[in-house]
Amino acid sequence: MKRACVIGAGFGGLALAIRLQSSGIATTVVEARDKPGGRAYYWEREGFTFDAGPTVITDPDCLKELWRLSGHDIAEDIELMPVSPFYRMNWPDGTNFDYSNDEAALRREIARIAPDDIAGYESFFEYSSAVYQEGYIKLGHVPFLDFSSMLKAAPALARHQAFRSVYSMVSSFVDNEKLREAFSFHTLLVGGNPMTASSIYALIHKLEKEGGVWWAKGGTNRLVAAMVKHFERLGGVVRLHDPVLHIHTLGDRVTEVETASGWQERFDAVASNADVMHSYRDLLGASPRGAQMARKLARKRWSPSLFVVHFGVEGSWPGIPHHMILFGPRYKGLLEDIYEHGVLPQDFSIYLHHPTVTDPSMAPPGKSSFYALIPVAHLAKLPIDWEQIGPMIEKRVLDEVGRRLIPDIHDRIVTKFHYAPRDFALDLNAYHGSAFSLEPILTQSAWFRVHNRDDKIKNLYFVGAGTHPGAGIPGVVGGAKATAKLMLEDLR
Ligand SMILES: Cc1cc2nc3c(=O)[nH]c(=O)nc-3n(C[C@H](O)[C@H](O)[C@H](O)COP(=O)(O)OP(=O)(O)OC[C@H]3O[C@@H](n4cnc5c(N)ncnc54)[C@H](O)[C@@H]3O)c2cc1C
Repeated sequence: MKRACVIGAGFGGLALAIRLQSSGIATTVVEARDKPGGRAYYWEREGFTFDAGPTVITDPDCLKELWRLSGHDIAEDIELMPVSPFYRMNWPDGTNFDYSNDEAALRREIARIAPDDIAGYESFFEYSSAVYQEGYIKLGHVPFLDFSSMLKAAPALARHQAFRSVYSMVSSFVDNEKLREAFSFHTLLVGGNPMTASSIYALIHKLEKEGGVWWAKGGTNRLVAAMVKHFERLGGVVRLHDPVLHIHTLGDRVTEVETASGWQERFDAVASNADVMHSYRDLLGASPRGAQMARKLARKRWSPSLFVVHFGVEGSWPGIPHHMILFGPRYKGLLEDIYEHGVLPQDFSIYLHHPTVTDPSMAPPGKSSFYALIPVAHLAKLPIDWEQIGPMIEKRVLDEVGRRLIPDIHDRIVTKFHYAPRDFALDLNAYHGSAFSLEPILTQSAWFRVHNRDDKIKNLYFVGAGTHPGAGIPGVVGGAKATAKLMLEDLR
């Protein structure tokens, strides 16, 4: 039986491990932290459950497929619950915009804000559907190993004007600024600046409408636990709390994986789900290839980090939907501050997560759990002492949520803590504390991203946000399909 090692138990690593184990490869997942999930880690405090990262589950089919491979059903291990509206967007002037895949309701919402933009929205939806077909269905799980694969995709990219930004494309269809923001902010969910990310990312709109927005009962952490349970049921092995220190190579082959505890094993193939810079610079640092790739990656653009305030409050809030975007007074200027200038702005836009409105099990009876997230520049652009500044930003974020939604928020708080860029760097080995790895811009997409198989070390593979197609659960789970295909062909 051939043996494979997957370094890292993020969504991409677990999806890859399930695919390999389902195909008869004896697979071991080695994870540095005490719990699996990576960005989808979680904490339990005073009866509240706080998911650290992903909360919007889209394209549930890409997850269901991981169970179907071996004749199982995802429902054996996890319940997925629909979320509606998908998001409520809110602006400082009090305007709300509810967005869902109920066509009639969505049109009513658009008409309420800008009736003249309905026809433009229809055209935008057609555009989004076309790029979804091309960029997600056709190319979302294809490995771009050589430049010719990029050339093959070029005519479609040109036809869809992939050189334009999402915001510019949306603006060519709708005139109202609020609607422009509402239909372009999605790239932020995968680390992209709507002003510079390729218009191909407009596919997220169709992706959400096609597959819906879902919530895993008990939290995203339960979905991670379900993936682990399924993997172990198939015979896979998960080794937690044991960071990999070295990937040993001999010539153009990986030979062994060595961890901090002294565990060292030989494998036929090794895939890293860890941060791509950490993998090349630290784990492969002893090989010339590791140093060469680390130099190359250091010149790339890295996506921003995030500052997340987790809090549990007294009371129930049926009027606050599960997902809210609280836009600030600026859009373009705020994005420039985060992506270009690396300053900590006075204003911010908040993504507010309120799981207890869908799933009361996330908090003790009569209480609610939330997280409020703001994008912030990564550590290289904004080298501030987050330990010192964190409490102040936490208060400002909570003040803003209080001002717009929960007036006596500070009196109601039962427990709270925050997660800052420094934590991403220390807990996840994330380069510059980036929350989404390499920034998703056209010149860092597909072949220009880290390849699913290393060009020089033949049995070394990558999976996760740093590879094609990029961050987000559907992205890394689709990427795992591409990596698994390569590994299975090579191991045959
Ligand atoms: C706050 C937040 C909210 C998000 N919201 C959403 C959302 O709503 N919907 C969505 O689809 N996406 C969302 N995303 C994006 C999504 O969570 C990520 O893109 C995705 O989970 C990344 O998966 P990954 O496979 O790249 O692995 P990661 O989650 O990055 O995991 C990598 C793993 O490798 C481990 N590792 C690192 N170094 C070592 C080592 N030396 N040895 C062993 N293990 C190691 C790490 O501990 C980690 O567990 C969000 C991200 C964040 C941060």
